[in-house]
Amino acid sequence: MINSTKKISSTIKAETLKQRDKKHLWHPLTQHKIHPEALPIVKAKGALLYDENGATYIDGIASWYTAMYGHCNPYILEKVQEQMQQLDQIVFAGFTHEPAIRLSEQLIRILPDNQEKIFFSDNGSTANEVGIKMALQYHFNKGEKRNTIIAFEDGFHGDTFGAMSASGLSVYNGPFEDFFIDVQRIPTPNSENIDAVIKQLQEYNKTHKIAAFIYEPLVQGANAMHMYESKYLDQILSICKEHHIITIADEVMTGFGKTGKTFASDYIETKPDIISLSKALTAGFVPMAVTSCTQEIYDAFLDDSIGKAFFHAHTYSANPIACSVASAAIELLETEEFQNNIGRIIHAHKRFDTTIKNHPKIKSTRQQGVIYAIDLDIDMNRYGKKRYEIFDHFMNNGIALRPLGSTIYILPPYVITEEQLQKIYKTIIDVLDIV
Ligand SMILES: *Cc1c(COP(=O)(O)O)cnc(C)c1O
Repeated sequence: MINSTKKISSTIKAETLKQRDKKHLWHPLTQHKIHPEALPIVKAKGALLYDENGATYIDGIASWYTAMYGHCNPYILEKVQEQMQQLDQIVFAGFTHEPAIRLSEQLIRILPDNQEKIFFSDNGSTANEVGIKMALQYHFNKGEKRNTIIAFEDGFHGDTFGAMSASGLSVYNGPFEDFFIDVQRIPTPNSENIDAVIKQLQEYNKTHKIAAFIYEPLVQGANAMHMYESKYLDQILSICKEHHIITIADEVMTGFGKTGKTFASDYIETKPDIISLSKALTAGFVPMAVTSCTQEIYDAFLDDSIGKAFFHAHTYSANPIACSVASAAIELLETEEFQNNIGRIIHAHKRFDTTIKNHPKIKSTRQQGVIYAIDLDIDMNRYGKKRYEIFDHFMNNGIALRPLGSTIYILPPYVITEEQLQKIYKTIIDVLDIV
């Protein structure tokens, strides 16, 4: 027995993580036939990732906009360790605990003024799923049958069924479209189409029973960091308010300072009824999500009958350890140090932008807070391969950036140093020579 165990562990040792990965793992968003290999990362600290050979990479997108306070942030780590020794997990139906209570107080303090209640789940998709279900049941509880959701054509809200139905980016959706909930799409507004968008919304409102409108405020992450103006969103939101259409702001990507304000909704006059949060909420430590809502939404679920309650739960809802992470992260966000860091990154992007926006290989650039994107002016027909060449060039130079189509974007952790930021900029300039 002992011998055979020994044998197994020595075989395992001889193989690299890359080889072992291929045996049993199925990665997300990956065509394994074309891309059989994943890069093993063994350590992360601040803005740096370390691979198994000791090479380092600057995490230019904060591991999908999660680790905004830097990987393994020591303050958060300390708080998690304390929490882990105190209370690990407790069912959140019928029980409660201080970490969740404290976090709800912090969130309500920083969220737009009309938000009053906090509902927990595990990831961005489920936060939106919860938001959509809340909106549908809100009308149901009030005795009104409304079954249509409005969403932007190029929006992305996640991969569970409701969230996926609301997502317009079709590459992900093909096999499932026959099973979707009823969603009508409007284009993301701009100066040219806004009147037509408003008209389309009003038309839908005449022919459909619209329950809710879900949107990513100001920046659509998966849609290559597309940015649009708050005044157009405001126009759409006021029509929704007028017709009692529940508005759901998907701030899973935009939340917690990335747009230059705490939430993207802070730029918009008309506040949403429901807000979904995840990603930076738990700073890259553990998965968790939140759906917040107004008192009015919550009140529609209060009744003497149990049937009007919100019967949605995830086993790990409001996990105390995850709550302690989120609490510590919000504390950090509010410090002068982090606010200064955000300001510093915003200005660095601006300066960089003036130096490169007129480059012949660049079609356009845009920025919202610490989010900065460049559209390359290249032939998309030949782009497929180029995208991987660009990706490889970044990685070979120690920069972890993931171009989306012909768009290169940076969304760095707030702790990134000036030197690291300059290295990213310089590598982008070098990449322009190879496209
Ligand atoms: C990432 C993302 C989601 C999905 O979140 P997951 O945690 O990956 O399920 C939803 N909406 C937006 C805007 C996102 O960026």
